Amino acid sequence: MDATAFEDLGLIEPLTAAVRAEGYERPTPIQARAIPHVLAGKDLLGLAQTGTGKTAAFALPILQRLHASGVKPEGRRPIRVLILTPTRELASQIGDAFKTYGRNLRYRHAVIFGGVGHEPQRQALRSGNLDILVATPGRLLDLAGERILDLSKLDVFVLDEADRMLDMGFIHDVKRVIALLPRRRQTLFFSATMPPEAQRLADVLLHEPETVAVTPPASTVDRIDQSVYFVDKSEKRTLLEDVLYDNEEMRRVLVFTRTKHGANRVAEHLTKRGEHAAAIHGNKSQNARERALAHFKSGEIRILVATDIAARGIDIDDVTHVINFDLPEVPEQYVHRIGRTARAGASGTAISFCDAEERDLLVQIERTIRKPVPRAQGHAVPRWADEPSRGGAPAAPRDG
Ligand code: AMP
Repeated sequence: MDATAFEDLGLIEPLTAAVRAEGYERPTPIQARAIPHVLAGKDLLGLAQTGTGKTAAFALPILQRLHASGVKPEGRRPIRVLILTPTRELASQIGDAFKTYGRNLRYRHAVIFGGVGHEPQRQALRSGNLDILVATPGRLLDLAGERILDLSKLDVFVLDEADRMLDMGFIHDVKRVIALLPRRRQTLFFSATMPPEAQRLADVLLHEPETVAVTPPASTVDRIDQSVYFVDKSEKRTLLEDVLYDNEEMRRVLVFTRTKHGANRVAEHLTKRGEHAAAIHGNKSQNARERALAHFKSGEIRILVATDIAARGIDIDDVTHVINFDLPEVPEQYVHRIGRTARAGASGTAISFCDAEERDLLVQIERTIRKPVPRAQGHAVPRWADEPSRGGAPAAPRDG
């Protein structure tokens, strides 16, 4: 952990006061390394995933640059900063982050994403009274097509979660957005991984960039108290109840299932047993998902059941426990899942359920994290647990 203080990074008082008010004691590694470059106007290649504090790593210096160049608080003016991000959840979280970090500064921002009505977003753009726009690519292009969006005076472009953007098939949309931007600008490119397609995009977008890489997985995994229960498939729900029952430390529990259907079943089961639980997944409306997330954040519901796809990118602090009701089929996903409970330096607990068909998935996970997941204490171990088959189990069906 870099020991620098926010003040040492060259941030002005209105911003350091805002992060202090959020309870941040010191910058995370990505913040310590990226903020000075962004303040200096350099292009940046940031290799970091959600949970490392990357949003503040770009939002704080961007706000400072806006402030330094003078913002007209009212009246028409060009959009100066565009942040492109793959999902609506991320877009609204980034919007919230700007609100939080910029609370002591005068500027305006808007968030635009798909899945909700066009009109309010259209009006926000038409007012011409904006400095920062946070957007998903599809809706941005829709609105750009209506000619109510002028990005020609842009100073800073942020491409967030580039690898995921490409994963989700947004490459053409991203290229169309880039074509709307002025060539002279500062570009910040964030990605958790750099597959060749992401590298090609970075090569096109960035001009003599500084590279800042943080690798949370190993250190994150080390901070998490992990355990695995071997359990028959039919017993998983009862085990979940037992694990959750009467445990006050489990204040905010994220449960992962493999399928949407499974998420619903688990949430319904828990609700019937008197737990405050909800499911989020791709079949739910935007409203239902936002409501469930808001209730989870506020503590009204203690247990959120999610599929991997639904959980990607949702940013919730203080998840005390992650429970893998089903093991992920891709071993790296295990690291991403349990990382949800050790945000920005916190520690956390991850509990996994492994049934006979998942035995080989566990072997792969242990290979990936290069250590065994400790067996839960005080729980009978079925005989199959010590006999992983060779060659790997067939992958179970997956949806989001
Ligand atoms: P991000 O990677 O941007 O999604 O941030 C992950 C979480 O870490 C967010 O919920 C932030 O509120 C929190 N966070 C960001 N920077 C810090 C910091 N310097 N100290 C403590 N928490 C932070």
